[in-house]
Amino acid sequence: MTLNGDLFSVTGRVACVTGASSGLGRRAADVLATAGAKVVGIARRQDALEEWQAGVGNNGAYVTGDIADQANLPDLVAKISEPFGSPDILVHAAGLNMREAADDVTAEGWDATLAINLSAPFFLSQAFVPAMKSQRWGRIVNFASLQSSRAFPGGIAYGATKGGIAQLTRAMAQAWSEQGITANALGPGFFPTELTAPVFDDKDRAARNAAQTCIGRNGVPEDLDGPLLFLCSEASRYVTGADPDGRRGVHSKMKALVYTGPETLEMRDAPDPTAGAGEVLVAIDSVGICGSDMHAYLGHDDRRPAPLILGHEAAGTIVGGARDGVRVTINPLVTNPTSAESRAGRENLDPSRQIISMPPREGAFAQYVTMPERNLVEVPDGVSFSQAALAEPLAVSWHAVRLGLEALHPSMEQRAVVLGGGAIGVAAYLALQGMGVKDVILIEPNPTRRDYLTNQLSMDARAETNEMAPLIVDAVGYSVTRATASALAAPGGVIVHIGLGEDAGGLDIRRMTLQEITFIGTYTYTNQDFRDCAQAMWDGRLGPLNWIEERPLRDGARAFAQIKAGEVLPPKIILKP
Ligand SMILES: [Zn+2]
Repeated sequence: MTLNGDLFSVTGRVACVTGASSGLGRRAADVLATAGAKVVGIARRQDALEEWQAGVGNNGAYVTGDIADQANLPDLVAKISEPFGSPDILVHAAGLNMREAADDVTAEGWDATLAINLSAPFFLSQAFVPAMKSQRWGRIVNFASLQSSRAFPGGIAYGATKGGIAQLTRAMAQAWSEQGITANALGPGFFPTELTAPVFDDKDRAARNAAQTCIGRNGVPEDLDGPLLFLCSEASRYVTGADPDGRRGVHSKMKALVYTGPETLEMRDAPDPTAGAGEVLVAIDSVGICGSDMHAYLGHDDRRPAPLILGHEAAGTIVGGARDGVRVTINPLVTNPTSAESRAGRENLDPSRQIISMPPREGAFAQYVTMPERNLVEVPDGVSFSQAALAEPLAVSWHAVRLGLEALHPSMEQRAVVLGGGAIGVAAYLALQGMGVKDVILIEPNPTRRDYLTNQLSMDARAETNEMAPLIVDAVGYSVTRATASALAAPGGVIVHIGLGEDAGGLDIRRMTLQEITFIGTYTYTNQDFRDCAQAMWDGRLGPLNWIEERPLRDGARAFAQIKAGEVLPPKIILKP
């Protein structure tokens, strides 16, 4: 075959570029002139136009004028046609963004924005279309925007015109393309221009914008050259009304509660997660605040550096794919199913394990997360999402209690003491009872919390005990609770340790040695434990699952502060995105 060498050529064409004095308009005028077109640049600022024209020489001419001035349009049209004849390429790059908040928009600002961004592209095109029709060749390029389909703060008038441009482009294509005139839009994305200077001056905001792009950076003016030459040349002759969706290459955004530094959480826009191979997208309905989220929030967890979306106790609905709409609770621990540990049914010990809310996986204080499908457990009707979100903390304790009971000598009494009346302690108490250990005491020193456990949850909660027990569950993990556990474990008994409150101290190694007390550290759960625990929840074996308080995700920062201040009674706060 042979390829038409002139496919992308604009040599000999006459182009008219509005907004040619700066930004992407100037870039477009430069590119077309350099590529061989005769270009008439239009803007209001003569000095800037002169400077541009000096740069492109004989291929450029300029007209100063106000394209928003309808009364003057015939005069402007005549001037544009003067230097090189009627243009066969129109690039509508002039734009106005007043950045007025919706409540502050004035009639003047609104009208000026519409006149430049929407009316001018139409009426200028309408004026030159007859000449294009007679030669059966024309190219119209409109400038769309991210705001053609997304709302930004302070962009209501600008956004309305850019939404209008999207439809105007399709309507132009419908009206004129049979006569050889194509109309398309360019939706550049985030480019540094005078118009976007307020955005690019804010380095954080510019970086956030870059992070939302598939390519991973904001645009530079020369990124426009190729698409522009394509749309202005013979190459695009069968492309018209092209979807000017400004989101091209930019992820849509979700709301997330982001940990941004010690004791600071902010609602932010975050890139929508995209499901990888074997993964599905889950729309989060309910997500619990965990002790480990608190730990990270206080700045005490090196594994969770800011900025990060925390939260790993989540339930929601599958979005898309074969199981679209299925209600699920999430096992947040992502492991390699082929590892030796996984094949032995001990996925939680897989060295490649990841958990959402710890890099590289974002957490669930957000509208969406992605998860491997094997991590999702279907929630039956009759169980609420808030209740289903308790599966994770319950599974932690279920796993711990299972290991403890397996280690307990069969000759010993099935009796247990749980230290700590937080969510993990409550869950351990329920798991023990669910596994048939009826004689359980819960130790909780805080009297208000203890009253809640006694009166609301009918638990045997006490300030302290001197009575030894064969099985001790430390659901706190401080040196003081480890000291208590070492003292309370009956000879030959078992201590199960769940919390990560303090790294060292407390264990009475001498007594544990002389009395042959087993110490078991536990972390998360196996896949089987998670599913067994969820089934026990659905069957009602873990009680009414009513030890929760629901709050909107946007109030999450306040919930964290109140938990820190000890002002929250129910063991679990569930946030609703
Ligand atoms: Zn947790």
